[in-house]
Amino acid sequence: MEKIVAGIDIGNSTTEVCIAEIDAAGNLHFKSSSGVSTTGTKGTLENIKGIKEALNLGLGKIGKSIQEVSRIYLNEAAPVIGDTAMETITETIITDSTMIGHDPSTPSGEGLGIGETLWITKLDTAAYDKDYIVMIPTEIDYIEAAKLINESKKHITGAIVQNDEAVLIQNRINRSMPIVDEVKFIERIPEGMPAAIEVAGTGRSVQSLSNPYSIANLFKLTHEETRRIIPIAKSLIGTRSAVVVRTPNGEVKEKMLPAGKLRIESENGPCHEVAIDQGADKIMAELSKTPNILNVEGDNGSNIGNMISRMKQDLYKRSLSAMDQIRIKDLLAVDVLVPIDVKGALAGEVSQEKAVAVAAMVKAERLPMELLAQAVYEALGIPAEVAGVEAVMASLGALTTRGSTLPLAILDLGGGSTDAALLQNDGTAQAVHLAGAGRFITMLINTQLNLNNLSLAEDIKRYPLAKVESLFYIRLETGEVKFFKEPLSPKVFGKVVVCKEKELIPIETKHRLEKIAMIRKSAKKDVFVQNALRALRQVAKDHDIRTISNVVLVGGSALDFEIPHMILEELSYYNIVVGKGEVRGTEGPRNAVATGLILSKVGSVW
Ligand code: ADP
Ligand code: MG
Repeated sequence: MEKIVAGIDIGNSTTEVCIAEIDAAGNLHFKSSSGVSTTGTKGTLENIKGIKEALNLGLGKIGKSIQEVSRIYLNEAAPVIGDTAMETITETIITDSTMIGHDPSTPSGEGLGIGETLWITKLDTAAYDKDYIVMIPTEIDYIEAAKLINESKKHITGAIVQNDEAVLIQNRINRSMPIVDEVKFIERIPEGMPAAIEVAGTGRSVQSLSNPYSIANLFKLTHEETRRIIPIAKSLIGTRSAVVVRTPNGEVKEKMLPAGKLRIESENGPCHEVAIDQGADKIMAELSKTPNILNVEGDNGSNIGNMISRMKQDLYKRSLSAMDQIRIKDLLAVDVLVPIDVKGALAGEVSQEKAVAVAAMVKAERLPMELLAQAVYEALGIPAEVAGVEAVMASLGALTTRGSTLPLAILDLGGGSTDAALLQNDGTAQAVHLAGAGRFITMLINTQLNLNNLSLAEDIKRYPLAKVESLFYIRLETGEVKFFKEPLSPKVFGKVVVCKEKELIPIETKHRLEKIAMIRKSAKKDVFVQNALRALRQVAKDHDIRTISNVVLVGGSALDFEIPHMILEELSYYNIVVGKGEVRGTEGPRNAVATGLILSKVGSVW
C-alpha cells in the first residue's frame, strides 16, 4: 500500500511543506508542495497553526486530507533569531535661533525677501521705515489679504501664508514679492523677529537659504551659530521655497546623544572596540577579526547602547532564553542616510543624516523541536519526528537542482538570516547563520524613504518601478515605455509607481524614481552581497572562498529579481559557478529544506 509523508520546514518567515508518496515497491514520488507565513516565533507551539494551514494547502492540491498522512518530518531548526534595528549616528541639533518652513507645491513670486515678521492685521500700526514680511493666517482669505496689502503704504517684502493661496494673492496685488504658502504651523512664528523667505523660479531650487553662509550673512550669525544652522540649510536643499526666521534665544533646546561604541567579545581572544561613527565598513572589519563572537555590547547611555538593549529586550520576549543568556552572535552594519525631523520646523521638514543600520542575530538555546513534534502529533494525530539539521537538509534539497554536484555550497537567503552550508561527498556539512536578510532590506527601504509603511517597502523591494508620464503610458525604470488601451487612474498620474503584477501602486513620496531605485539596489547589495561573501568564507576550507566551486542559491530572497544577479556578478570574480536553485526541477529556489527532509529519510528515487 502506498504511504503519504510530509517534510515541514519552519523558517523565521515561511513554513514550507513538501508532500511525497511512497509506493508499494518503496519508490518515492514527490506530489505537491506549499508554503504559508510562519505563525509565531519558530520553534514555539504557535507554529502549529501555520503547519496545519500549509499541510491543508499542499494536500488540497492532490485531493488528500491530513488523516491520510502517515508521517511528518520536521527540521532541527537552526537556533537563531534575526532582528533588525536602526539608530542614527548623529542627532540633528537645531538650537535657539532658528525656525524654518518650506516646500509648498505652489509658492508664488520669485526672489529673496527679508524683513521683520508681522501679522497682516497689524499693518496699520506698523512703522514706515522698516521692511516687513507679513504673516497671513487661515482666518484671512486671499481676497482680504490682497486688499490689506494693496491698501497699505508700509514696506512689505514678502508674505508667509498658512493656506494654499500664494498664487491667488499674487494675482490680486499691485506689487511683486515672494510668497510662501502652506506653512502649517504659522502660529509658531514669533512676531517682530528677523525673517527671510525665498522662492525660486519654476524648475529651480532655492540658492540663498540652502547655503549656510548666506543665512549667516542675512542674520549676522557668529561662527558657532553658523555651525548650528547647517541642518537647516541642508534640509532646504532642492526645495522650491523656504522660510527662515530668527527666534528668541532658548526656544529650541539642543540635545545630543553620543553615537557610542560597540564592544565585540570573543570566546578566546581579546575584545575589540569600535566607534559607531567610524561607519559600517570599519565595524564589519572589526567583526571579521573576531572569529568566534561570544557577544556584542554597546556603551551605556549611547545611541548604540540603547539600540542593543532594546533589541535584546525584543528578542528576549520572542525567544525562550533567559534575559542574561541573550547573546548577540553576529551583526551586520550598513551605512544609510535617513531623514530626521528638524526641530523647530514649521512644516515637518526633514534633514538627511548619516546613520548606521544594524541587524543582529541571537543564538538561542537549542530550540525545543522535540516538544514541537510531540505537540504536532497531539494536534494532528500523525506521528511527527525531528529528522535533520536545517543546513544539511537545505543542501540535500538543493542538490536536486540539475547540474549541481558534490561538494556543494548553498546560500539560503531567507527573511531573518543568511545561511550557508558546504556539503561534502561523505555527507558531512559545515554551516553558518549570519544576521541580515530579506526583512532587513525591507526595513532599509522603509526607513531611508521615510515611508512608514512596511508592506509598501516590501513591494518596492520585489517589483520594478515606473513613472506614470501620461494617462496612457508609463516609463519603466529601464527606460522602456509601456502603453495602455484604457486610461490609467488619475490617482497615479505623474507619480512614481511600483509595477506589481497587474497593479500600479503609487509611492507617496517626493523622491525621484532614480533615487528610490538606487536605495533599493544598494540595500540589496549591502545585505546579500556582503553576507554571501562573509558566509561562504566561513564555511570554505581554510576560509578561502576560491576552494568553493559551485553554489546554489535557495530561500525566499533567491526569488528576488536582482539579488541572484548581484551575487553571481560578485562571485564570478572568484570563478565560482553560482545560480538560483531549481529544486526537484519544479520548485525554483523554494522548498529545499522540506524536500531534503524527505530525501534524507526515504532515499532519493524521484
Ligand atoms: P525563512 O527561511 O527565514 O522563513 P524565506 O526563505 O521564506 O525565509 O524568505 C523570506 C524572505 O524572502 C522575505 O524577506 C521575503 O521578503 C523574501 N521574498 C519572498 N518572495 C520574494 C520575491 N518574489 N522577491 C524578493 N523577495 C522575496
Ligand atoms: Mg529557510
